Amino acid sequence: MLLAVLLTGLAVGLVFTRLLDSVRDGMARAGTAHAVVDVAFALDRLEWRAIAGEPLPEIRPEFDRTADLLRNVLPGDESADAVQVRQAAAAYAAAVDQELALLEAGERALALELDETVVDPSFELVLERAEAIAERETAAARTTNRLTRTVAWVTVAGGALVVALGVLIGLRHREQREQQRRTETVNRRFRSLVESSADVITVVSDVDRVVVMSPSLGFLGAIARIERPVRMVDLLPPDRLIEWRQYDQLVELGQVVDPFELSVPRHDGSLAVVEAVGRPLAGEPGHRVWVWRDVSQRTALEAELSHRAFHDSLTGLANRALLLDRTTHALSRAERSGEPLAVLLCDLDDFKTINDALGHHHGDELLLMVTARMAGCLRASDTLARLGGDEFAVLLENTDLELATGLAERILGAVGDQLTLAERELFPTLSIGVAAFERGVATDELLRRADVAMYEAKRSGKGRAEVYRPGLVQAGNDPLVLQSELRRAVADGALTLVYQPTVSLVDGSVSSVEALVRWTHPKLGPIPPMTFIPMAEASGTIVALGKWVLAEACRAAMTLTGSDGTGITMHVNVSPHQLNDPTWVTFVKTTLAETGLAPELLVLEVTEGSLLANPASFERLLELHGHGVRLAIDDFGTGYASITYLQRLPIDILKIDRAFVSGDALPPDERRAFLNTIISMAQNLQLTSVAEGVETDEQRLEVASLGCDRGQGYLWARPVDLATLHDTIAGLHPGLPARPEASGGVGR
Ligand code: C2E
Ligand code: CA
Ligand code: CA
Repeated sequence: MLLAVLLTGLAVGLVFTRLLDSVRDGMARAGTAHAVVDVAFALDRLEWRAIAGEPLPEIRPEFDRTADLLRNVLPGDESADAVQVRQAAAAYAAAVDQELALLEAGERALALELDETVVDPSFELVLERAEAIAERETAAARTTNRLTRTVAWVTVAGGALVVALGVLIGLRHREQREQQRRTETVNRRFRSLVESSADVITVVSDVDRVVVMSPSLGFLGAIARIERPVRMVDLLPPDRLIEWRQYDQLVELGQVVDPFELSVPRHDGSLAVVEAVGRPLAGEPGHRVWVWRDVSQRTALEAELSHRAFHDSLTGLANRALLLDRTTHALSRAERSGEPLAVLLCDLDDFKTINDALGHHHGDELLLMVTARMAGCLRASDTLARLGGDEFAVLLENTDLELATGLAERILGAVGDQLTLAERELFPTLSIGVAAFERGVATDELLRRADVAMYEAKRSGKGRAEVYRPGLVQAGNDPLVLQSELRRAVADGALTLVYQPTVSLVDGSVSSVEALVRWTHPKLGPIPPMTFIPMAEASGTIVALGKWVLAEACRAAMTLTGSDGTGITMHVNVSPHQLNDPTWVTFVKTTLAETGLAPELLVLEVTEGSLLANPASFERLLELHGHGVRLAIDDFGTGYASITYLQRLPIDILKIDRAFVSGDALPPDERRAFLNTIISMAQNLQLTSVAEGVETDEQRLEVASLGCDRGQGYLWARPVDLATLHDTIAGLHPGLPARPEASGGVGR
């Protein structure tokens, strides 16, 4: 390149020199031609002086010199025109010489005639020829000069072009290097991202060729065994491969497919649950990116949660929810087939006395022993459930009343055997109510009948079984009467609200309280919400009750200030039935507007179940969340909620159920592990976690050390009325370790 430029430069230089030489020569010749004209004129002037009468001797010497000059013009130039000029000049000089001679001879008339006929024409000829040469040479020189200028311009332009080209090439080169560096950086970053990802990332082309895969294969055991996998068949078990292929085809067609789960064996033989997501690789037709994520922990937690939702944690038996579900299904089967069905309701006699005397721990032990004895009498197809406390139920499919009564007697015998508890001899007894299926009898009614029969068994001496028959008296108060009394209480504004603060586990500050409803029955005294809320739900009174609670709580919130002097967040419990009410959303918005409470200061507490209940309630919660209202999941861990589902909801707060905080129903290790999982999950989902039912400092330290954000419980404060709440909040000092003063934990 450089050589080419040098050579070109040299050639251009040579051409230039030549061109300039030729211009100079041309101009010189033109100059000489002009000189001929000048000399001719000089001679012409001498001639005129002679004719005018100047003394000839004075003119002669100059004439001779000038005539000589004229004869020798264009010396060395032998070109035809030069020769012609010289001939014309010589002729002119000779003519003038002759004229002078005539003048010298005094032949003036002859001289003048010669002048006219010979001298003047020869003078004209000299001029004509010399000027022709001058003109021609000047024109040639001009042309050459133009050429030179053109060459010069072309050279300069060419040079500039070469330089520009060079600069351009240089720039491009640099840009390419820069681009390459950038690509390398991106590649490096991408590689390290992929390599450090906990997920396995593969790029698949053709049918199942793996063209890229991340090295993080730890959780995919089957994959880990392959050194350099080349096809999906190396990575997945054959049956899973077929399933994957079906999804992959959809991905290849550009369809968006939901993540799907599949279990693959790990190298230790255990199964990993893997979630696979496939997407087309942008810009590379026919390539698909598959991301494989180990979701074993999540699915295990979900399975655990769903188990908990349907099982009693102490005995591992089915709980009330599962019993109701199974009974409902069994009843509809019985309605179709006409096969018999019966339910036993069993209540451990005097359990409260034993529990109080021997303590919770021994009470639990007794429940476990009784459970084992009852289970020993049953068939695999029977469902034994713990409904709560000391109450059990047995669902007996394909069993008529006679068989059911026989079984009840067997259970009574088995449970009644002597046992030793806390070094005491006990003879536990059960009261059993038996109810058999009749057409048209729903689950609620069947269980109510068994309950009535059980009450009859208690009433007539305990330790025995009674069969339901119409006319038996309902235990306690008639729920129908209570229900209408509750409805009246709501309408009369006879309910009250109490408030329980939530405390920051970091600095002990109080920024929110939960509103809890109370009902004091004129004759029966205080009735726990756990009793009347389900009644209100069953009767529909909950809608009016819930509206009253919300409005009252919002009004109360406006009178409260948190530890830091700003407004307090009010938590209000919302039952699933309220979410079914189409006027609910408007009511909440209107209430906020009327009371002046900022939507951000209202938290609605819903249970996991109510989220799954119905898509409309989901929409309503979404709308309120969009309005600024925040949402909390209440009693988390007791109902079933899919974690994937939780991720899609606009939940802000997770309230961890008391069972995981202070509950002694669970083995300590299991409880702690579960608590830990829930808190870290809340952190992952960026939810505020609140530990419910914190009663001791030990529990506070435990939840705080696991990273829980806030706590609620008797340790700080019991639920109190609004008047007392101001003092309660003032007594919980922010900035100090979150603990009650030595004197007054209880009752505040
Ligand atoms: P929840 O929403 O889980 O409320 C917390 C319950 O735990 C309250 O019982 C509270 O008094 C109690 N608690 C608080 N700290 C402790 C503690 O340290 N140890 C123990 N053992 N318990 C503690 P409460 O007031 O009897 O309410 C029971 C349930 O009734 C509530 O459970 C909630 O599900 C329902 N409920 C209460 N008020 C309302 C309401 O206005 N509307 C609806 N829909 N449900 C309500
Ligand atoms: Ca609550
Ligand atoms: Ca709760």
